[in-house]
Amino acid sequence: MLTHVPISPVSPERYRDIVGDRWADVEGGIVTAQERLAGRAIWHVNSTARGGGVAEMLHSLLAYARGVGADARWVVIGGNADFFRVTKRLHNYLHGSSGDGGGLGEAEREVYEQNLARCASELRELVRAGDIVYLHDPQTAGLVRSMLELGARVIWRCHIGLDDPNTLTRTGWNFLKPHIEPADAYVFSRRAFVWEGLDHDKLWVVPPSIDAFSPKNEKLDPRLVCAIVEHLGISLDGGRVPTYTREDGSVARVDRRADLDQEVPVGAEDPLVVQVSRWDRLKDHAGVLTAFTEHVTDDRARLLLVGPSVEGVADDPEGAEVLQEVRAQRSALPDEMRARIHLAALPMDDPQENAVMVNAIQRRADVIVQKSLAEGFGLTVAEAMWKGRPVIASRIGGIQDQIVDGESGILIDDPHDLVSVADAIDGLLADSARAQRMGAAAQERVREMFLAPRQLVQYVALIVGMLDARDDRGAV
Ligand code: UDP
Repeated sequence: MLTHVPISPVSPERYRDIVGDRWADVEGGIVTAQERLAGRAIWHVNSTARGGGVAEMLHSLLAYARGVGADARWVVIGGNADFFRVTKRLHNYLHGSSGDGGGLGEAEREVYEQNLARCASELRELVRAGDIVYLHDPQTAGLVRSMLELGARVIWRCHIGLDDPNTLTRTGWNFLKPHIEPADAYVFSRRAFVWEGLDHDKLWVVPPSIDAFSPKNEKLDPRLVCAIVEHLGISLDGGRVPTYTREDGSVARVDRRADLDQEVPVGAEDPLVVQVSRWDRLKDHAGVLTAFTEHVTDDRARLLLVGPSVEGVADDPEGAEVLQEVRAQRSALPDEMRARIHLAALPMDDPQENAVMVNAIQRRADVIVQKSLAEGFGLTVAEAMWKGRPVIASRIGGIQDQIVDGESGILIDDPHDLVSVADAIDGLLADSARAQRMGAAAQERVREMFLAPRQLVQYVALIVGMLDARDDRGAV
């Protein structure tokens, strides 16, 4: 039921020049971590090692934690199809959406708890009293009690949320609340996501972050960008051998290709609009497609929708279905329009190779769209902003914390307003100077607020605060 994800240590020292004045805080956090966490393992538990934002962050953050001597570990829980059907439903409910239309009653509770009881019995062999267990998202909430019983200190981290909770959201909360309530700390990505009725003394708000040095975000020579995008089969830009630097510093070649739905590759001069996301209805691929095909007036522009190969993401049973729907929508378009729409499913066999594919595509884009209907944070937004791309995104969830409308990107007030999305695309394609200014401001915004060292410093404060609070309550 459990898979260990290996983590190679990386020193955060490489951020010294990037974060400037804030490096002193990072050094302070490192010293505190070394003093306070010695002898404790810090277990991070989630439900997938690849695909999606949580896996993306854990890869980087845990490498830096190990790089300063913290004993950070990562375990992925397994489950049967029923379990992941229930957890996907929970995910949708928490986002205020009914998902597959099923309920969250006693039968679902039994599926959920039985699966997690099996995971807990394996975790019992690993976790020791005094360890810190960091449980991520609904899939792992049911482990809180068993980890507390072992004498571990338990943090539950919720990466998702809704600005205005509805009845479905509350149903999701009520399903999970009995599980998470006893945890030592609850962490949310933004204040508006905090659930009603939780003990405020245990609450922390920690926005996510990206890693500037990962294959997903590392600098790429423009010729390499062309080479990788061409190798994938998406464009005809031309270039040299598609290489990139892996996390261990070695240089590797991109070998695999994308699974494409396209007629003619994108030409070097064609303006390219891109959305990168899992094949999830809340990312509203259908809406992006309709906005583009019915309302964008620039007829040179191409639209590229990018997501993972649907075999690759274990905990997302709806992926294949959604990709199928998007394919059908594209197929039904008149020939001329269909020729301007590209779908790319990227191989997930090697996460670092997949990451550099995304990196190159984001850098090749003239405009990035993230037209989600719900979004915990939206790492893809920060990733594109860091690459100096102008982003057009829905004014929802954590996206609002990232983009300052009109300065570091464009926010669309109503995510269903397709005309405004299309106007924003046309506007940026027509005014490349503005697009460039916005991209530069976006990069600065990410440097200030959304790079990994900020999150690491907050995590140290959170763990130390939680340990102190427990000591105050007289716990072991
Ligand atoms: N992603 C990826 N390959 C893909 C599609 C997405 O690596 O083919 C990554 C994307 O770059 C981002 C993460 O998956 O790092 C998605 O995170 P986000 O917060 O945007 O959305 P989530 O999937 O968590 O809802």
